[in-house]
Amino acid sequence: MKIVAYNKCSLLDYHPYIAAVVFTPGCNMICAYCHNQALLHSHDYIEEDVIFRHLQHSKMLEAIVITGGEPTLQGQALIEFLRRVRSCFPVVSMPISESRNISDKDQDMTRPAPASASSWPGHQPDMPALQTSGLKIKLDTNGTNPKLLAQILEAGLVDYVAMDIKATPEKYVQICGLPFDRVKDSLCLLRAFGAYELRTTVYPEITLSELENLCQTYQADPYFLQQYRRIEANGLIPYDDDVLQRVAAKYQIPLRGISAATSRLRS
Ligand code: SF4
Repeated sequence: MKIVAYNKCSLLDYHPYIAAVVFTPGCNMICAYCHNQALLHSHDYIEEDVIFRHLQHSKMLEAIVITGGEPTLQGQALIEFLRRVRSCFPVVSMPISESRNISDKDQDMTRPAPASASSWPGHQPDMPALQTSGLKIKLDTNGTNPKLLAQILEAGLVDYVAMDIKATPEKYVQICGLPFDRVKDSLCLLRAFGAYELRTTVYPEITLSELENLCQTYQADPYFLQQYRRIEANGLIPYDDDVLQRVAAKYQIPLRGISAATSRLRS
């Protein structure tokens, strides 16, 4: 799979887990507020084996996040990557509090048999034995590839999916360049799957009445609003944190990305 960036440790991308984050290049959308433009067009690839070696050596990691760009553009290569993670780091069922408290010695006893590592493509015989009791897998997607998403979910290759809701269906093309229909199909899949979240970045071209419409539509889902982070190439001013907080409170929807100072003032 094409990988253009790798964050060895994140506490933010798959709460409450300590996660490594893999970034894939390319996207089929054209959101004006995209903060990953440089990564989208990068051809500076990182080899999978480099990442797997880090995963194998890291004892603190609990999860891996696949993000982008749009990871589903990687097609079957994404599926192979997920299979490889599953094969090398099958999750051992155990409450997270317990898994954080057990000693290294105990971890050794709960670790899956290293023999499974030889089953993934590209396995290097000289790679060290597995060093973890498993990794949960989260996939970030814009939802435009329901066919591939269905394959991934059916094969049990992810534990959690976060999907963007860019705008109301009528405004999808304007905000991100693609229609809503495939995203709608992905939404059906995720609701049946159960372990998912939806999130909307409140780009200022989304009107407040459209924002309320979105909140009403997704109120029953695990749904988040995210404050728009301004980018230099774009003169649009984000909504005031106060304004977003009022809407979020009205529909009891969590709001991310507001300043800590505003958050304290309002609480
Ligand atoms: S879907 Fe995400 S990665 Fe793609 S252009 Fe939009 S913000 Fe950027």
